[in-house]
Amino acid sequence: MTASSDHLIIGSSHAAIAAIAAIRSQDAKTTVTVLTRDHHFPYSPTLLPYVVSGRAQPETAILCDTEFFAAQRVRFERSAAVAAVRPETHEVALADGTAWHYDKLLLATGAAPLLPAIAGLSDLRFHCLRSLDDSLALRAGLGEARRAVVLGAGLIGMHAAENLVKAGIAVTVIEPRAQVLPGYFDAEAAAHIAARFAANGVVFRFGRTAVAAAPAGAEGESCRLTLDDGVEIAADLLLIATGVRPACDYLAGSGIATDRGILVDALMQTSAPAVWAAGDVAEAPAFPGPGRAVAGILPEAVAQGRIAGMAMAGDAALQPYRGSIPRNTYGFFGETAISVGAGVAATPTADAELHIRRDHETGAYWRIALRENRLLGIAAVNLPLDAGILCELIRREIDLAPCKARFIAAPRETAQRLMSRIWR
Ligand SMILES: Cc1cc2nc3c(=O)[nH]c(=O)nc-3n(C[C@H](O)[C@H](O)[C@H](O)COP(=O)(O)OP(=O)(O)OC[C@H]3O[C@@H](n4cnc5c(N)ncnc54)[C@H](O)[C@@H]3O)c2cc1C
Repeated sequence: MTASSDHLIIGSSHAAIAAIAAIRSQDAKTTVTVLTRDHHFPYSPTLLPYVVSGRAQPETAILCDTEFFAAQRVRFERSAAVAAVRPETHEVALADGTAWHYDKLLLATGAAPLLPAIAGLSDLRFHCLRSLDDSLALRAGLGEARRAVVLGAGLIGMHAAENLVKAGIAVTVIEPRAQVLPGYFDAEAAAHIAARFAANGVVFRFGRTAVAAAPAGAEGESCRLTLDDGVEIAADLLLIATGVRPACDYLAGSGIATDRGILVDALMQTSAPAVWAAGDVAEAPAFPGPGRAVAGILPEAVAQGRIAGMAMAGDAALQPYRGSIPRNTYGFFGETAISVGAGVAATPTADAELHIRRDHETGAYWRIALRENRLLGIAAVNLPLDAGILCELIRREIDLAPCKARFIAAPRETAQRLMSRIWR
C-alpha cells in the first residue's frame, strides 16, 4: 500500500526543521510527514564533538521530540531510509519497500562521510563522525584506545584530535595538504593552530596520504596503516575525517539534476516540478554569484530550509536565497579562530588587496581581503570577531573607504559601529 502526504520531507535535521516551521506558519491544515533514516529524534551534528568528549550528553544535541511534532501536526517516521525518488509519479520508495506519494517533496538529506580509496579499508573497523550513532560509537571506542590515527585535518578531524588527545590517547593526524584546516585558514594561522596541537602531544604527518590498511597482528592494535612514503603506523582507533559529500545516491535514475549536490535555484526548486532541496545536500547559488556551492554549514541549511518551506507553502513573503557565504568559528585548546568569506585561506586574486596584522601582546593574528574597498573575507586567530556582522558587511558590499584604516586595525569595533548605523 502507498502512504501519502501533502508535504513530504526527507531528512530530519536543521534544513528539515526550518522547512516545517515555514510551512506551518502559513498553513495548518495540509499533511506534513518527515521520513528519516536516522533512529533518533532530530539532533544537531554540530554538538557531536562534545558528545564524543563527554562534555555534552546525547540528549543535549536533540533539536525536537514528540511534543514538537504533535504541536506542529507532523508525522515523524524514523528508520525510514529513502532509496528512490520517482518525480513523474510523485512517489518515493523506502529501502524497506514501502512507498509514499507526495504533492510536494523536500530533499533535506544532508551530507555523508566521504571515504578515501585505501586498499584494505573495507575489511577494518573504523569511525566517522556525522551521526549521533557515530559519536556514541567513537565515545565508546575512547575507553580502550591508546593510539589513534585521524585521517584529515579539516574541522571534524581537528575537533576529534583534540578530544582524543584530551582523553589521554596518542594521536597522529595524517593530512595530504601542507597545513591544517586548508579550507579556512592561510599557512600562518594554520601553523599557529597546529603548533598548539603539537604542544598538546598531537603528531602531524603533512603532505602524506594513507594508501593501504590492514588488520594488525600485534596485540591491542586494530589496524596498521601504510602511508605513501612507506611509513607504517599502528593504531587501535582509526577515525576517517577526509570530507563529506551530499547524500543523494537515492536520486540515481530519477532525472533530478545533480552536480556536486542537488542543483537548486534561488527558491530551492530542483529540476523536477514539486521537488525542492535544501541544506548540505543542495548545490545552491553562492554569494555574490554567478556560481553555486554546497554550503555545508548550519546557518545556510536553516536559511535554505526556510525558503524551501515557504515555497512549498506558497508563502507570499517568499524572498529568493541571497547566496551562501562560507563562515566558521572554531575553538581549540581554549583559543579561537574564525574565518568568514573568501580570499583569506588561499592566495587572493590579483584584483584583491590583502592586509595582514599581528598583535604580539595579545597573540592575535588577522588577515583581511578587500576588493575595491569592499570586504571579501577575513580570518583571524585569537581576535574576537562577530561572524554575523562580518557576513552582512560582505553581503551588502559596504564601501569601507571612509573607515578603511580603522577597519583593518580594529575590524570588530569598526564593523559593529558601521552595522549598527546601517541596521538602525
Ligand atoms: C561533527 C560536526 C560538526 C559541525 N560543526 C559545525 C559548526 O560548528 N558550524 C556549522 O555551521 N556547521 C557545522 N557542521 C555542519 C552542520 O551540522 C550541517 O551544515 C547541518 O547539519 C546541515 O543540516 P542538513 O539538514 O542539511 O543535513 P544533516 O544535518 O546532514 O542531516 C541530514 C538528515 O537526512 C537524513 N538522511 C540522509 N539520507 C537519508 C535517506 N536516504 N533517507 C532518509 N533520510 C536520510 C539523516 O538521517 C539526517 O536526518 C558540523 C557537522 C558535523 C558533522
